Amino acid sequence: MDIEKVVRQHLKMEQFFSGFTLKGKTGTDKPQQKKDNGMTSAEKAADLEKIAEEVNQCRKCGLGSIRTNAVPGEGNPNARIMFVGEGPGADEDAQGRPFVGRAGQLLDKIIVACGLKRSDVYIGNILKCRPPDNRDPRADEIISCLPYLQRQIEIINPEIIVALGAHAAKTLLNTTKSIGQLRGQFLEYYVGINRPPVKLMATYHPAYLLRNYSPDNRRKVWEDMKKVLAELDLPIP
Ligand code: URA
Repeated sequence: MDIEKVVRQHLKMEQFFSGFTLKGKTGTDKPQQKKDNGMTSAEKAADLEKIAEEVNQCRKCGLGSIRTNAVPGEGNPNARIMFVGEGPGADEDAQGRPFVGRAGQLLDKIIVACGLKRSDVYIGNILKCRPPDNRDPRADEIISCLPYLQRQIEIINPEIIVALGAHAAKTLLNTTKSIGQLRGQFLEYYVGINRPPVKLMATYHPAYLLRNYSPDNRRKVWEDMKKVLAELDLPIP
C-alpha cells in the first residue's frame, strides 16, 4: 500500500473538516467561465431582493405565521455553485440567514476546504420558514415554497447545484430514491422546458454528517465536492 498516499488523503480529510486556511486560488481567481442567462449582476441582485421581500411577507402556508424570521437565502448572485438545504433551523429562524447554526459551521468548513469563500456561492433552502421542532417539511409546505427557490435558481443560473441531504435532493429531482442512491454522481435539475438542465450533485446534509461523523461519511462528502470542483475546472486543494 502507498503509505504516503494514505497519509496525504488523511491530511486532506483533516483539513476538510478543521477549517484549515488554504493557500492558493479561490473560485473567484478563476476567469468567469459561467454561461450567461442574459441578466446583469445588478438585475440578478434586484430580482433576488424582490424574491426576498416576497418571502418575508409570505403567508402561503402555516409556517409563515409561526416563524421569527423568514430565511430567503443569501450569497453571490453570480455564483457558479448553489447549495440547497432543507429548511431553516432555530438559529436560522432567529437570524433570518441560512446555515448559521452548527450545520452551517460545518458547511462553511466544507466551502473553505474547497478553496472557496461563503461569498463565492449562493446558499438557499427548499423551505424558507422553520418547521416547528425541526420536523420534516410537509408536502403542502414544499408545494407553496418551491416556486421561490425555482425562481432563485433561474436568476442565479448556477453551473452546479449541490443538494444537501435527502429532502433537497428528492424535491429537486422529483424522485423517491434515497440520498445514498442519489449522491456521488451528476444528475439533472430542470429549470424549464426552454432551458438546458443544471447539473446537480446530491450529498449528505451537514447536520446528518454531524450526527454520523464517521471517516466514511466524511470521505463521501469530500469525494462529492471534489467532483463538483473538477467539473467546474477549479483546483482541488
Ligand atoms: N439546515 C438546513 O437545511 N438549512 C439551513 O438553513 C440550516 C440548517
